[in-house]
Amino acid sequence: MIVGDILLSTKGLKSVNNCINIIHKWLFPPSCVLCGATGHPGLDLCPGCEADLARIDNPCPGCGMPLQASEHLLCGKCLQTPPPYRLTISPFYYEPPLIKLVTDFKFHHQLKLARIFAGILAGHLQDRARPEAIIPVPLHPRRLRERGYNQSQEIARLLGRQLAIPVDSRLCQRTRYTTPQTGLDAKQRHRNIRNAFGVTGQCKYEHVAILDDVITTGNTVTELARLLRKQGVDNIEIWSVARAVPD
Ligand SMILES: [Zn+2]
Ligand SMILES: [Zn+2]
Repeated sequence: MIVGDILLSTKGLKSVNNCINIIHKWLFPPSCVLCGATGHPGLDLCPGCEADLARIDNPCPGCGMPLQASEHLLCGKCLQTPPPYRLTISPFYYEPPLIKLVTDFKFHHQLKLARIFAGILAGHLQDRARPEAIIPVPLHPRRLRERGYNQSQEIARLLGRQLAIPVDSRLCQRTRYTTPQTGLDAKQRHRNIRNAFGVTGQCKYEHVAILDDVITTGNTVTELARLLRKQGVDNIEIWSVARAVPD
């Protein structure tokens, strides 16, 4: 009886919570962080502003960069030097207004924006084979202390919940403090990030997705993917909200 009562009250509590959620959504519908209009359900971005984001058309499945007219299936770069990952999902160019959103998110503590990035990515990841884990690009402990949070981990947490994929933030660590890749030439970028990551414990995965907020040069995710390949991960995907076009 007591057990039954407890079950009943837990059930009752759940439905009360659901009702509160429904009323809350009705009273406070999501509003677009860019223009203030009503957002998509569960997303603080309206359809118009989402349509304004610079989408990468016809991307190379390998690196995510747009394929040239002469290229088919994979870009010349991926054909010549196959990357250590199988595919890249990075739907947008790193251009306004995304730059402002990412900057606010990353440097001005606007953590609620993680919901937009997770929502955008989830929309591009439906109906696909699920990786066993999402691995957010780790920050060095010093950078984590400076910023207070790992932006990739924040997106991964929400995305993992939406897609029902576990997030593994423990397997990989950033063992070397690196300067930001921006402003460095190609050689310096490569040297800057080399051996920047390490693995703790045994890696048991065959299929993972590395999540970075933005791919700038591609060196960071490549280095991390290389490390995971050495650990026996066969199938690696790269997920990010946007990517910059390397100069
Ligand atoms: Zn809007
Ligand atoms: Zn490519």
